[in-house]
Amino acid sequence: MILANGLIRTLDPQVRTQRALAIAGELVAGGVGVHETALASPEVTDLQGLVVVPGFTDSHVHFPTWALAQNEVALDGCANLDEALQRLREVEVPPGRWLRGYGWRSGDWQPQRDPTRQDLDAITGDTPAGLIAKDYHSLWLNSAALALANGELEVAGGVVERDAGGEPTGVLREEAAWRFKERHMTVSDTDYLEAMRAGIRLANARGVTAVHDKDGWLGALRLWQQLEERGQLTLRVWQSIPHDALDATVTVGLRSGLGSTYVKLGYLKVFMDGTLGSQTAWMLDGSGVQITSGEELAEIVRRGAAAGFPVAVHAIGDRANREALDAFEETKDVWGPLGLRHRIEHAQLLAPEDVDRFSAIGVTCSVQFTHAPSDRDLADDYWASKTDGAYAFRSLLHSGAVVVNGSDAPIEELDPLAGIRAGVRRTIDDRPAWHPEQALTVDEAFHATCVAPAWLARDERRRGTLLPGHYADLVVLDRDPWDDLDAQVVATMVGGRWVHNPPPW
Ligand SMILES: [Zn+2]
Repeated sequence: MILANGLIRTLDPQVRTQRALAIAGELVAGGVGVHETALASPEVTDLQGLVVVPGFTDSHVHFPTWALAQNEVALDGCANLDEALQRLREVEVPPGRWLRGYGWRSGDWQPQRDPTRQDLDAITGDTPAGLIAKDYHSLWLNSAALALANGELEVAGGVVERDAGGEPTGVLREEAAWRFKERHMTVSDTDYLEAMRAGIRLANARGVTAVHDKDGWLGALRLWQQLEERGQLTLRVWQSIPHDALDATVTVGLRSGLGSTYVKLGYLKVFMDGTLGSQTAWMLDGSGVQITSGEELAEIVRRGAAAGFPVAVHAIGDRANREALDAFEETKDVWGPLGLRHRIEHAQLLAPEDVDRFSAIGVTCSVQFTHAPSDRDLADDYWASKTDGAYAFRSLLHSGAVVVNGSDAPIEELDPLAGIRAGVRRTIDDRPAWHPEQALTVDEAFHATCVAPAWLARDERRRGTLLPGHYADLVVLDRDPWDDLDAQVVATMVGGRWVHNPPPW
């Protein structure tokens, strides 16, 4: 197949653009000169001047959760509690089902106040309700839902909010929230698979050809494998594994050959702290929640290295990032010789002296370009004097660190072009750029969305650019984003097969 008469942006620094691209089977066969395209060919697609870029990777997505959330009540963007309650009132829940929702953030509400189970009880009656916060680190439950736990809510690393009388208010945070969700808000595989099939179609339509999934804890591996077996998987998946599931996973992995063409076991996932929105980020000023200590992380890194796995560690606050960097530095003699590609997820707030350490130690920053403009008000509020080191994407890149971009969907929308725009513009509304000194070039934003994520998944010889021998994973855009950032996806190809909107266009 030849895609002719377009602008092919290979993202390879040696051959930056071409007029045409030859594809043989699932691979790029080469760029084609203008003369050759005139030759008879089995299949020539006239691009009519459209632009082709390598497929996008979303480097941080909770895919099954995001897919499911497409069918839940969205509570983001509410101005106050009443607005959130109004949206919940409009939903009809079939008998025996949960009222599920996501996206609330009480820090955005005027007046600011934490929600309670009583707020929900008036609307929901006996239907259990579980509403996860925008940052996924807090869970707001009604009394019917709380009753399912029989008072067993406390868990190490978790917070159970209580009222003056010592009764749970209905809000659980961190481990307490996740444990509750895991035990009491279970979802059947059938429901997950149905939601994921629709999610894959939507992701492909947005140019996504690969994901680094973070939902290993809920058994995403099993779900992806079922989709692949049925021929329904048109995304390449680099899957996280909860660090405490390492032993079980290695056994499963060995039995199933440690992955296939589309699904690969990637890295151990660890949490150092909470989030900005829940004010649980672990800070150098002593505030926040510590989920994993530096010593514990070092031990996990050693155990992972022994099994050949790198580690992805969630770190938001400046203390969490400091401790994570210390742990990677201290264990480098173990993982360095193995060439493991570790990553810190979010790296949202860094002490100035820690910025250069990512590149010095060899740890990738896995960030979300959209978080900077969408968190700006909270960051200005909670991290007032420290925002020079917040979402410091440009400083990190210029220090030599590898930077990859993701959406953290469902926290932000799974849409790489929106992410690229946020990285370049540092604003998502009509306000001026927030900390414009940290804005990226279009080149840098695309590199972090196409090239660097493939390297992080050890796939740089097969993906990331449109070089001969690489998978033909690509996106056709309606215009050149280097001229106009509002470019839109026209079509998407994975492994030489159109998976969204095949030609003719
Ligand atoms: Zn996440």
